[in-house]
Amino acid sequence: VAGLEVRGVEVRYGAAVAVEDVSLVVEPGTVVGLLGPSGSGKSTLLRAIAGLEPLTAGSILWEGDDLAGVKVFKRNFGLVFQDAQLFPTMTVGRNIAYGLGKLPRPAQQTRVTEMLELVGLPGFQDRRVTELSGGQAQRVALARSLAPTPRALLLDEPLSALDTGLRRRLAEDLARILRESRTTAVYVTHDQQEAYTVADRVAVLTEGHLLQLADPETLRHAP
Ligand code: ADP
Ligand code: ADP
Repeated sequence: VAGLEVRGVEVRYGAAVAVEDVSLVVEPGTVVGLLGPSGSGKSTLLRAIAGLEPLTAGSILWEGDDLAGVKVFKRNFGLVFQDAQLFPTMTVGRNIAYGLGKLPRPAQQTRVTEMLELVGLPGFQDRRVTELSGGQAQRVALARSLAPTPRALLLDEPLSALDTGLRRRLAEDLARILRESRTTAVYVTHDQQEAYTVADRVAVLTEGHLLQLADPETLRHAP
């Protein structure tokens, strides 16, 4: 299978089952949303894909290769969380270049410029991170994650710290950015409208189970 495959995954915390027998495929260049109420296992599943949570059954595969034993940083997935977690003492540009250590300086600068254009913040290289709005900070976090061209992006409620109006607009921008960059992504949210806006297919979770997996159009018309 091309892209990311989640095969029969289970994650337990002691006796409690947080994720049970979940299987899904994220095809290259597409976004799968993980949608469900608080406690349904979305974050646990995302963390398991990232390599941050051990599986108690099943496997995670990339291009058919089992990632068991492959460490978080070796998985080459970009991570974006609710809190942008930027380095406060570095400029926007240095934050975005952080994962580009292997590239020569001029190539790093070119990449930073490209990423800032992609996320709608052209010319922000020398800005101080502490002066950004919440929405701008999340755009920079997205640019930083995408800069080293990860094989896939894993996003956990990236907009939920922002207020509603801004969240709607940013969700539309995010959808466009992910599509333009042809990013393979898993996008966790408890917000149905946000999932429908950003994801090509939406996996609905409840109590650790995959209830259904369909495109937003189908789900919208589901009884
Ligand atoms: P969601 O992201 O959908 O809100 P979570 O994946 O955070 O759901 O949680 C799924 C279940 O696992 C919940 O019952 C939660 O209480 C439990 N859980 C999550 N993290 C831990 C943990 N570190 N230790 C024990 N239980 C946990
Ligand atoms: P941000 O400025 O946070 O990156 P946008 O670029 O989408 O987000 O901002 C578009 C408009 O939204 C700007 O006019 C900005 O002043 C306004 N805005 C910024 N932050 C907020 C906020 N927290 N709530 C509502 N509107 C905001």
